[in-house]
Amino acid sequence: MEHDVIVIGAGPAGSVTAALVASAGYRVLVLEKNTSCRSPCAGYISNNINFEIPDNSVVQSRITKMRTYFPDLSFHDFELNGFVVNRSLFDMGLARKAIDEGAIIRWGSSLQELVTGGVKFREGVAMGKIIVGADGVFSKTASLSGFKKQRFAVCAQYHLKGINPLSHTCEIFFNQEYAPGGYVWIYPTGKDSAKVGVGVTQGYPRAYLEKFISSTPFLERLGGRKTEYITGALPIGGLREKLCYGNVLLVGDSAGMADPVTGAGINNAILAGEIAGKTIIKALESSDMEILSEYETKIRRLLERPFTRALEKRKMLDVCYASNELLQENLPELWVTFRQYWNN
Ligand SMILES: Cc1cc2nc3c(=O)[nH]c(=O)nc-3n(C[C@H](O)[C@H](O)[C@H](O)COP(=O)(O)OP(=O)(O)OC[C@H]3O[C@@H](n4cnc5c(N)ncnc54)[C@H](O)[C@@H]3O)c2cc1C
Repeated sequence: MEHDVIVIGAGPAGSVTAALVASAGYRVLVLEKNTSCRSPCAGYISNNINFEIPDNSVVQSRITKMRTYFPDLSFHDFELNGFVVNRSLFDMGLARKAIDEGAIIRWGSSLQELVTGGVKFREGVAMGKIIVGADGVFSKTASLSGFKKQRFAVCAQYHLKGINPLSHTCEIFFNQEYAPGGYVWIYPTGKDSAKVGVGVTQGYPRAYLEKFISSTPFLERLGGRKTEYITGALPIGGLREKLCYGNVLLVGDSAGMADPVTGAGINNAILAGEIAGKTIIKALESSDMEILSEYETKIRRLLERPFTRALEKRKMLDVCYASNELLQENLPELWVTFRQYWNN
């Protein structure tokens, strides 16, 4: 059977694209290499996009404040509006929506090759008019199409239980000794539990995470039960040089859509999935694949400016990570909750 669209990856980018295109009556196949949704993630989602959470039971905590710590542990508070979700359940909700709209998801099916007019996976070949690469930071769709590896940060996280997190507050720590090139996060998931993780651009994230948790003064607050260890990566090199080529679109992390400074990528993956879905429907309705290039134009219009700024800040961050003194002095210019980040 020929599909109208083959989506590689059932993360937020893939499932949102698939649901939208399937809801317009087109035949959509999703190939997902895992047997269920389980992208490693801290699950903080800011409430600034027009998107309804598929199921309220996925929300682990409501967030109203971000507290950012300088290396000397002085801090800056910023009001915001978001929530922490159970990422596997959140993604499964989006995948279920795609299935309800008529998309077929083949679990445990990994893309192996792009072939003329379709894709090859372990169990066979599927033909499709349009291919959507929504297969994350190490996108096989992109590498098979000749794209270079993206710059990425690596992360490690525990879900700690029996601890005392600050309620409704995401905590972010900048310190060269605990998170070179990145930061440590504590995201509450309940009264006595939180996801505590670290993202770094060099070294082993788990070693840094252990060091943070077991150091004074954090041990006092974080010496609880370690559960659910996860590790993963996210792109920090900004948008790829091309997001659409021929009948292939790259969406979400596979296209470099996580913020190069914060690493947040869920909202952009959803937003890009919606834009990809709408553009694909337009192209299929008019049988004109040239229309697909509108996807890239729209994404660049939305993300190029903030990403240009974030990439400049990323460069400065890389320099400032040479010492805690530099970080201490320059953090307000480098982190999104400070007014100085947005100046000029
Ligand atoms: C530890 C960690 C914490 C994070 N915390 C946050 C956070 O709090 N907030 C936030 O906004 N962002 C966070 N991010 C980033 C966020 O997870 C990503 O930006 C987001 O998941 C991107 O969605 P996506 O759909 O593009 O890709 P993904 O969610 O990565 O989904 C890609 C899917 O493709 C599948 N796949 C991969 N290769 C193949 C293949 N060859 N064939 C078939 N399927 C394949 C994968 O199994 C996966 O299901 C975090 C990332 C990490 C690593």
